[in-house]
Amino acid sequence: MSDDVTIKILGSGTSTGVPVVGCSCDVCRSTEPRNQRSRCSALLSWDGYRILIDSSPDLRQQCLSYGITQVDAVLYTHNHADHVHGIDDLRVLNGSPAQPLPVYGEQKLIQHLTTSFRYAFESQSKVGFRPRLKGVVIDDTLSLFGRKIVPIRLLHGDEIALGYRVGDLAYLTDCSVVPQESVAQLQGLRVLVIDGLRFRNHPTHFSVSQAIDIAQKLKAERVVLTHLSHDVDYCLHQQSLPKGVEFAYDGLTISLNDGKNL
Ligand SMILES: [Zn+2]
Ligand SMILES: [Zn+2]
Ligand SMILES: [Zn+2]
Repeated sequence: MSDDVTIKILGSGTSTGVPVVGCSCDVCRSTEPRNQRSRCSALLSWDGYRILIDSSPDLRQQCLSYGITQVDAVLYTHNHADHVHGIDDLRVLNGSPAQPLPVYGEQKLIQHLTTSFRYAFESQSKVGFRPRLKGVVIDDTLSLFGRKIVPIRLLHGDEIALGYRVGDLAYLTDCSVVPQESVAQLQGLRVLVIDGLRFRNHPTHFSVSQAIDIAQKLKAERVVLTHLSHDVDYCLHQQSLPKGVEFAYDGLTISLNDGKNL
């Protein structure tokens, strides 16, 4: 038994992924592995349990790359295609095949999933090999495998997206505003993974400087910017970030143990 919570960034890219199909910019042509970004997703783990955050369209390749063969639950942030459309690949990941895999999200998200991917939620389905999922609406703090999971309401343009806090770690992808009531839930963070799409402003995502600004207000100790576009050149731009702030990359793993090592 361990008390450590570990987060692995499975995908650090924006909705197109990087390289962007058809783009010949320096970052898209770069051979630096940290400039090659699959669609945004992460894996939390503790005490042998594995909790996936979002099922990106790159989920299959992410599982192959990082040796993920089963998960125990999925936490969804919102219903955009880059966070959902790998859902069919959950069929091979159900850790206890006798039970449907629980997938968590706010009301609108669960409604969207059960309507758009109905075959995966029906107890009797004519589709043979399919994911067997159970939608669970999150209203408030949830207890999962011995840990408290706090859903954090965020604005993503004019839509709601959820972030998640586990212990002193928070994962806030796809957001452009952290509402005041959520700020109160984000105090005392040792690790903050947050949307930092690109350097220019965007209507539905934090820019790099906006993300740093909110992270500094929250006084998070270690800040990891994710959902990155091809505007971010890892090696070139990493050096210009303030102390304690870094860009995510696919495969980045952070263990948050109850001691002080991050
Ligand atoms: Zn996204
Ligand atoms: Zn490009
Ligand atoms: Zn989105």
